[in-house]
Amino acid sequence: MAEGRAGVRVARTRAELAAALRALRGAGGLGLVPTMGYLHEGHLSLVDAARRRAERVVVSIFVNPLQFGPSEDLGRYPRDLDRDLALLEARGADLVFTPEVDAMYPEGDPIVRVGPGRLGEGLCGAFRPGHFEGVLTVVAKLFHLVEPDVAVFGAKDYQQGILVRRMARELDFPLEVELAPIVREPDGLAMSSRNAHLAGEDRARAASLYRGLSAAREAFRAGEPRASILGTLVRRTVEEVGGRIQYVELVDAETLALLERARAGAVLAVAAHVGPTRLIDNVTL
Ligand code: AMP
Repeated sequence: MAEGRAGVRVARTRAELAAALRALRGAGGLGLVPTMGYLHEGHLSLVDAARRRAERVVVSIFVNPLQFGPSEDLGRYPRDLDRDLALLEARGADLVFTPEVDAMYPEGDPIVRVGPGRLGEGLCGAFRPGHFEGVLTVVAKLFHLVEPDVAVFGAKDYQQGILVRRMARELDFPLEVELAPIVREPDGLAMSSRNAHLAGEDRARAASLYRGLSAAREAFRAGEPRASILGTLVRRTVEEVGGRIQYVELVDAETLALLERARAGAVLAVAAHVGPTRLIDNVTL
């Protein structure tokens, strides 16, 4: 087992992980926070949330090739392991699992995978074929390798969180999946590793997603239930600054079914390109 430069315990192989887990597992429970690294306060808030539910917290850092499409940003996904380890050490994580691709997939790309079914058809699933299958497959493997009592995901990737929770329930993983609130920059932009790609003016433009969502939420509070009108508010706000909307959808918080009329608890979700960078965000009405 290795120690990161910053001192937090690091496991890079399955054997190192198993040995580290033997030392960690105890009566107080084990929490898991899966990430792709290049950590920010959003990720670190999940470490805090996991710690509230479990005595020990494992964070995985793995940029999972299976969930990237051929034209997506796998090759230029931002990485800085030393910085990540220092942040996790400071935040009190107990163990970081950071496998190489062939440690995760020793037989190559898995033939048998976990599919999202119809919950993967809408929202991001419609634009990222195979994405959620890649996510669920790696998360299922992490659940088996770590055997946590609770796993914490961020509400920023809302469809992902619902799918993981559903997978755990329907496929009998003995753990709880918690969804933690979105952490934002001061101007409202949802924190994301991909924000590092926002160059020049695009950084300020990126805040339009949350501005639009907030305007729609205000309109809902003021009595406007029509999804078409709420969606137009988001679309207009993003397009005003040159962003390109991929989708704006109002969905049921659990089933992700499309809604024509908003109700309290429904989720308004958006995906848009700002410059070359694809961003997602959502609010609960
Ligand atoms: P990623 O590294 O982008 O795969 O994200 C790892 C986990 O962090 C996922 O559960 C994300 O939903 C969560 N996450 C990412 N950004 C945020 C944020 N701004 N607020 C809360 N959770 C987040």
